[in-house]
Amino acid sequence: MKNRTLLMIPGPIEFEPVVLAALGAPTTSHWAPNFIETFGQALERMRDVFLSEDGQPFVLPGSGTLAMDSVGASLVEPGDKVVMVNTGFFSDRYGALLERYGAKVTHLRAPVGGRPSLEEVEKVLRQGGFKLLAVTHVETSTGVITEIQSLATLAHNHGAMIVVDGVCSVAGEELRMTEWNIDVALTASQKAIGVPPGLALFVAGPQAMQAFKARKTPVPNYYADWGNWLPVMQAYEGRQLGYFGTPAVNLVWALNASLGLILAEGMDARFARHTTISKAFKAGINALGLSQVPRKAEFAAHMMTAARYPKGVESSAFLAKVAKAGAYLAGGLHPAIKNEYFRIGHMGSTQLGDVLATLGAIEVALKDCGHQFQAGAGVEAAAKSYLA
Ligand code: PMP
Repeated sequence: MKNRTLLMIPGPIEFEPVVLAALGAPTTSHWAPNFIETFGQALERMRDVFLSEDGQPFVLPGSGTLAMDSVGASLVEPGDKVVMVNTGFFSDRYGALLERYGAKVTHLRAPVGGRPSLEEVEKVLRQGGFKLLAVTHVETSTGVITEIQSLATLAHNHGAMIVVDGVCSVAGEELRMTEWNIDVALTASQKAIGVPPGLALFVAGPQAMQAFKARKTPVPNYYADWGNWLPVMQAYEGRQLGYFGTPAVNLVWALNASLGLILAEGMDARFARHTTISKAFKAGINALGLSQVPRKAEFAAHMMTAARYPKGVESSAFLAKVAKAGAYLAGGLHPAIKNEYFRIGHMGSTQLGDVLATLGAIEVALKDCGHQFQAGAGVEAAAKSYLA
């Protein structure tokens, strides 16, 4: 018996066979001509995936938090004022990280499942003197998406740069660096980029690179300093040898393979597919009588769903039952509501079949936990939404 359990958490996700094949292939030297070509191509493709015409791509061995750290270390100088558009756990992390580098962070918080309004953000920015507006595009702890395009306009209207934590958004949610004037967007390999965990990825736009070059103080972090990595990225993209720290060779091969698949699908088609899949999934969740953590439908991200347990259903029992029925899902993460909800990732190459199978497993688990609903209602609603 095949006994396959779908991995439907908000990262790591299930990966494409060609990506896994690249990961399992014999490791080359990081200076082998075919690796130099592959790394160079991956950097060029990063620009296309981030929809950046003139940004500087970076690929570092590490997780998404390293991408956040590298941006914080390289852009923040002691005393810099930052506004954190705070939607939960990962916004808290980014605020704390920026404070380590001496930033004076003003957190703009919303109730759990909410997001600060544009008016609230503008009111703070109007005080003046902010260097950065930091935003979590999709807050993985609540499933809330922020309005990046409008926030970018606000930031620039008030003389600040915008830094986007896109770990749970890049390559799935609409994000257009050049068109929307995003200064930095960062992510990690294990989500919609579709590569096993281990790469910190970001693109820095011209204004961010300028701000980095104009620093008055040295970067107080060695490994994460853009100054150490920039010549390496420039070398590989110019098909030359570069070295600072050994690249994660196989992960870079895998990255190039996955970026190739993403661009073959096309960014607009990919954004649209994530939206369709998300609508179908959420229609299924609604039909089962479950509410969601985001307070309004327009606050809900498309790469994941954060669903509240119905009365009487308990977190660990439910998650074990749903895994047994065929899908691994994630529990809650936001400390204020940790045991009240669960999270489903539907990003990367998720298709209708994965959505239906996952909803089917959720139905089995909910029935087993004593929740009352019409069997098949979730699966049917998702299929109907998809077909519409
Ligand atoms: N930001 C967001 C929005 C995330 O979802 C995550 C990971 N779930 C991170 C940052 C941190 O990434 P990593 O775990 O790869 O360090």
